[in-house]
Amino acid sequence: MSVEHRLSEVRSRMAKAAAECNREPESISLVAVSKTFAAEDIRPVIAAGQRIFGENRVQEAQGKWPVLQAETTGLELHLIGPLQSNKAAEAVALFDVIETVDREKIARALAEESKRQKRPLRYYIQVNTGLEPQKAGIAPDDVSAFVRLCRDDLALTVEGLMCIPPVDENPGPHFALLAKLAAENGVERLSMGMSGDFETAIGFGATSVRVGSAIFGSR
Ligand SMILES: *Cc1c(COP(=O)(O)O)cnc(C)c1O
Repeated sequence: MSVEHRLSEVRSRMAKAAAECNREPESISLVAVSKTFAAEDIRPVIAAGQRIFGENRVQEAQGKWPVLQAETTGLELHLIGPLQSNKAAEAVALFDVIETVDREKIARALAEESKRQKRPLRYYIQVNTGLEPQKAGIAPDDVSAFVRLCRDDLALTVEGLMCIPPVDENPGPHFALLAKLAAENGVERLSMGMSGDFETAIGFGATSVRVGSAIFGSR
């Protein structure tokens, strides 16, 4: 099956999941996760009309996106992987949205770089809904204070919350928790759901889903 075909399958599955919970399909965006795939694998997806992409490593993204961005205007690039503060400058220069703000140090580095480069990015706060020790993210109990720090003290545009549920658990309760935290804190958008569970995430209110292998094939 071609990548164009897989992309349209994902889009129709998203529309069906939206219809099943009486949501407008246009209110849910698709972040096509292109990590590990090369520019020549990404080009057909851009040609098929996809404009929002996600990458999980700054250095890998730097190797392929500048050329793709030069070829096509209106692309939107999301960082969905962990960020070290010594990479903040490069991340701010390349990405439009950073979905993995997960600690004060990185929030401060991003605020400083964004100001220095005069690039107002949009941000999501990553929440460790499963309190997994090896996983990045703010603990649910600390989300409220962290949203306030980012918005009020650092003037970051906190657009949404993002989570990656534990692999071995039913994701539903994690999506529900993320939605509750967003509502409590006046945060509008929810980045949740991947190839295996994006329909479930839409049922719990996802406003964007991050789908890799269902579009590009297995990594
Ligand atoms: C790789 C990745 C995805 C996409 O995963 P698939 O299962 O391939 O759809 C989504 N979110 C994050 C944070 C990822 O690292």
